[in-house]
Amino acid sequence: MPERTPYIAANWKMHKTVAEAAEFVDALLPQIAATQSDVVICPPFTALGAVVERRYGTAVKVAAQNMHEEDAGAYTGEVSAAMLVELDVEAVVLGHSERRQLFGETDEALARKVPAALAVGLQPILCIGETEAEWSEGRTLDVLDAQLRGSLPDGASAADLMLAYEPVWAIGTGRTPSLEDIANTHGHLRARLAELAADGDELRLLYGGSVKAANAREIMAIADVDGVLVGGASLDADEFLAIYGAGQAADD
Ligand code: PEP
Repeated sequence: MPERTPYIAANWKMHKTVAEAAEFVDALLPQIAATQSDVVICPPFTALGAVVERRYGTAVKVAAQNMHEEDAGAYTGEVSAAMLVELDVEAVVLGHSERRQLFGETDEALARKVPAALAVGLQPILCIGETEAEWSEGRTLDVLDAQLRGSLPDGASAADLMLAYEPVWAIGTGRTPSLEDIANTHGHLRARLAELAADGDELRLLYGGSVKAANAREIMAIADVDGVLVGGASLDADEFLAIYGAGQAADD
């Protein structure tokens, strides 16, 4: 099995002004100077530039939270993959459940966004996850399979992608699946990826949904969990650092 570098991502959603983002990154950087992990900050569009400027020469990577699938055009309020690359942004979160539920993001659009990002060297962090109803009806794996098939382009190189399993009912709720359920779901996704993409073994599989310092270590110790996507708990630099530290310990 390939060595997969741990990946700890902070999804700030619509939080932090430019000044707040700068303060956070200034506090974080000295603490992770020697990291072997990928530490990824996903600020709102307005703070991308400030975070990029500060992290030059460090291990921190920067991801946007969304992008449009077209290169350019009459799409008021949108930004393209090339615009993000121009800012030296390295990755982009695609298909987050808030975008799917609140802003009508579809698998069809994602199947165009993923290659549009890859075409300019932007790494997609593709999010999939089941709703509470789908979970309680035992349909989780079928839903995830359908989302994967629908949003991954044919012949995608998995090494260039990041996949985040984020149960919708776990996001921002303080609830998580059991460790056993996370392990089973990630094991299932790993097997699916091997079928869908030639190098599926190399893809890093993240878990997201109510990760905090108190549960990060046990979640990241699961064999097919290569990192975490953290929302609410990533807004506080100390809490995020504690999650990062748990990831280092889980990797020992
Ligand atoms: C997220 O928004 O991707 C997320 C996982 O949120 P939270 O950690 O707050 O559940």
